[in-house]
Amino acid sequence: MRAFTYERATSPAQAAAAVAKAPGARFIAGGTNLLDLMKLEVETPPHLVDLRDLGLNKIERTSDGGLRIGALVTNTDLASHDRVRRDYGVLTRAIVAGASGQLRNKATTAGNLLQRTRCPYFYDTDQACNKRKPGSGCAAIGGYSRQLGVIGTSQHCIATYPGDMAVAMRALGANVETVDAGGATRTISLGEFHRLPGDTPHLDTVLKPGELITAVTLPRPVAGTHVYHKVRDRASYAYALVSVAAIIRRDGTGQVAIGGIAPRPWRVEAAEAALPQGAKAVTARLLADARPTKDNAFKLPLVERTLAAVLAEVKEARA
Ligand code: SF4
Repeated sequence: MRAFTYERATSPAQAAAAVAKAPGARFIAGGTNLLDLMKLEVETPPHLVDLRDLGLNKIERTSDGGLRIGALVTNTDLASHDRVRRDYGVLTRAIVAGASGQLRNKATTAGNLLQRTRCPYFYDTDQACNKRKPGSGCAAIGGYSRQLGVIGTSQHCIATYPGDMAVAMRALGANVETVDAGGATRTISLGEFHRLPGDTPHLDTVLKPGELITAVTLPRPVAGTHVYHKVRDRASYAYALVSVAAIIRRDGTGQVAIGGIAPRPWRVEAAEAALPQGAKAVTARLLADARPTKDNAFKLPLVERTLAAVLAEVKEARA
C-alpha cells in the first residue's frame, strides 16, 4: 500500500472541497472496497477524507411519503429498518443477498453505489485495463469474460456494475442527492448515475471531482409483490451472474431491473409494458441491443429464466 495523508471531514461541503482541491483524493466511509483496492495498488489516492463524523446516517420520511436514506447508513441498518422491510421489501432482499454480514455492517449506502467492478483484469495490475489505466487496452475482450457484461458495454470495456442494492433501488425509481465543492446541491436519477463506458471507461459515474453523495431518496412505496432473485456461482458471498429486482402489481404490471449484465443496473421502462405477456416478451425488449461474448452468451437465456422464475413466484404467492 502506498503512503497517504488523512483527514476527518467536518461538513459535507468541506469534505467535497477537500477532495476537489487534492487531485486523486478519495472519500472514505466503510472502506470495504477502497481499502482492498489500495492494498492491491489498483487505487493509489494520495489523500483520504473520512466522512464518519458527518451525521449522514439517518433514514427519514420525505414530505411526499417516500424515504431519504443518508449516505452513511450501513447496509445492515438499511436492510433491517422497519419501514424498508415493510414498504420496500425488494431493497431488504437485495441487500441481504450481497456480501457477508460483517461487510454489510461496515458498507454504506453511498459506498455501495460507488463500488467498482469485479472484472478480474481490473484487479490485476499486470493486465491491460482501460478502466484502471486509460488507453492501456482491455484484457477481458478476447480473454475470460464469463462474468462480464452483455449490454451497455463498449469496444473499450465490458465490465459490469457488481452490486445488488442498486439494482433494487433502480427498480424502485431512486434518486441520488449530492453536494459539490462550492456547496451546490443536485439530484441525479439513479438511472443516469452510472455511466456507460463508451470511450471513457475509467469514469464510473456522472459525479464531478469532489462531488459527494449525501443521500438516496426513494419515491412513495409501490404496492405489489417485491422479489429479488440472484443467480450466482456460490450460494453466498458471490457476485450475481444475473439478478432480477421486481415489484409486480396485482394486475401483472410492474417495475423490473436486472443486475450482473451491464455497467449499471439495467432497467428499460418500455420493456415493462410487456410484463403481463410474460418473461420472454420482456426480455426480448430488455436485451434487444445485447452484444455478449462467446463466454457469457448464456446470460441472455438466464435473464429470461430468472425473470420467469420471479413471475412464477409472484403468481404462487398470490394463489
Ligand atoms: Fe478493464 Fe473493463 Fe476491460 Fe475489465 S472489461 S479489463 S474493467 S477495461
